[in-house]
Amino acid sequence: MSRHMRVYDDEKLERPITETLGRLLEFIRPYSRRMVGVLILMLLTTAAMLVSPVLVQKAIDEGLVAADYDALLLYSILYMAVNLAEKVGLRFQLFNMVWIGQNAVMEIRRRIFYKYLDLSMSYYDHHRVGDMMARITEDSNALQNFVTWAVVNTIANVLTLVGIIAAMLLYDWALALLTLIVMPMMIALTIWWRRRAAEKYRAVRKAVGKLSATLQESLAGMRVVQAFVREYRERVRFREAATDELKASLAADRLASMFFPGVDLISYIGMAIVVGFGGMRVLEGQLSAGTLAAFLLFLNRFFNPIRDLAMRMDQLQAAAAATERILNVLDTEPEIKDKPGAKPLPRIKGSVEMRDVSFHYSRPEAIREGADGKNGSHPSVAAEADEMTDVLQDVSLKVEPGQTVALVGHTGAGKSTLVRLLGRFYEPQSGQILFDGVDISTVTLKSVRDQMAWVPQDTGLFATTIRENLRYGRLDATDEEIEAAARETGAHDFIVKLPKGYDTEVEEGGSRLSTGQRQLISFTRALLADPAILVLDEATSSVDTITELQMQAALEKLLSGRTAFIIAHRLSTIIRADQVIVMDHGKIVERGTHEELLAARGHYYRLYTAQLRGSFEN
Ligand code: ADP
Repeated sequence: MSRHMRVYDDEKLERPITETLGRLLEFIRPYSRRMVGVLILMLLTTAAMLVSPVLVQKAIDEGLVAADYDALLLYSILYMAVNLAEKVGLRFQLFNMVWIGQNAVMEIRRRIFYKYLDLSMSYYDHHRVGDMMARITEDSNALQNFVTWAVVNTIANVLTLVGIIAAMLLYDWALALLTLIVMPMMIALTIWWRRRAAEKYRAVRKAVGKLSATLQESLAGMRVVQAFVREYRERVRFREAATDELKASLAADRLASMFFPGVDLISYIGMAIVVGFGGMRVLEGQLSAGTLAAFLLFLNRFFNPIRDLAMRMDQLQAAAAATERILNVLDTEPEIKDKPGAKPLPRIKGSVEMRDVSFHYSRPEAIREGADGKNGSHPSVAAEADEMTDVLQDVSLKVEPGQTVALVGHTGAGKSTLVRLLGRFYEPQSGQILFDGVDISTVTLKSVRDQMAWVPQDTGLFATTIRENLRYGRLDATDEEIEAAARETGAHDFIVKLPKGYDTEVEEGGSRLSTGQRQLISFTRALLADPAILVLDEATSSVDTITELQMQAALEKLLSGRTAFIIAHRLSTIIRADQVIVMDHGKIVERGTHEELLAARGHYYRLYTAQLRGSFEN
């Protein structure tokens, strides 16, 4: 499991940060006008923030000290107005920033998901669902926080700091310099904290990633967990991961609990200096009381931006790592793509030919995520590939339209791999696959798969109504067509007896239906698709005898007029097949009909006596 634990394992950036940020801008660009608006608002609110201490100074000096009621009133009203304007501006600035962030993230999520839909099976072989989901949930969130808060706030913070320092120097440079004595302390504290915090927060993210991966694994495998009574082991694993997360979080919190009071302490030292030395200068008549007040107010506003910047640094780092992971997905090219200028394959009659097909799966390292822009063909891996044994070796076969082919052989012989190649889920390293004489690698992928329907062993039902599950076979099928197909396979009979008939909700995976019922639904779905080529992975689990007969009748309907490849486990299916292909260690070792192969007394005969006959009789 550690091999695939990619989430948060490593936050060292592979791409230059400028590239990452540049790519991030791509997602904000559509909202550039709104962004400009936000920046203008940000300038105005920052200016208002800097002006209000000045108004207090004037109120004191020109109103209070000069005993001028009118001036006092004027400046109080102005103070109110400026602060009101600042808060109103801030409201629009914040909301629009959130708006941009949310929209940008929505677009990023859409792009990641569409990419997932495009990526080839080999990608799915080497990536865990939990990790892939984390790109769309956690990583996108990190990004949204970043876009929403970090960018504009960072600019605002820097402007505020510069503005305050400038204002203080203008008022009284001597006092300003004296006050800024606290700056080195502040910088030292921040650097100290940053160093440790970066490490601690990274540990937190890593622990959270590990926790969610553990959780995902346990939940996804709950049937196995409970069947093997491994709850205790899972409990321990979960507790370990959760405890690690707790420890990491507390360590980060402990550090934070030193930093923030530290900042406050330093700011009080600054205040004390201003009150003490500033007060003396006021007494000596070198400084007005109003200026002293303005100084205190400025100082008060000085430390928030620093604290904020120190916090943002961490967000920035997390966001950069998240962005990189997201970009890696977006930059991954599907291994199998249409060749330039590929045309769709017209509806075929159904002849299938494999010519000297050899194939091996790529290693995990070969499925590179995009950083180098390429995929699949890592040079060193390609060189090593020769040493790998082929899962299929020089497989040739020819099937006439409408024929049924039964694939038999031990587990791991390569039967599933062979049919996956027919669907072009993987591409053979050598050899050709032809449908009606056309090499399927030269036409569009979609048009090849459109000619085929799959009846997988696990039936692949979705958590929706039976009707919608059936319609998955052909999206534009009418309710009547769906019912007609169900009548043909015999699924109709049991469906109408369900509480809500065709509108009965199926649990994900169809866990509330019997094996036979799930199979019938899966058959009906394939029948609706009306493919030229059918691929069926026969369920190994046996169904009761009545259903067995029903299944055979349904299968009969499904097979008529189509070319079919069946990974066969039932003797009844094999006996009916036009060709039985016996596979062993990636090679076709025998072919013929059931009788011919029995008579030959070779591989098939041995397989038959050892497995098939027994499984049929039981
Ligand atoms: P069968 O369907 O006859 O049981 P498979 O085609 O599933 O055999 O497997 C053939 C060989 O390919 C086995 O050695 C198996 O371990 C390997 N294999 C199957 N699927 C993959 C995959 N996605 N990635 C790597 N190796 C695989």
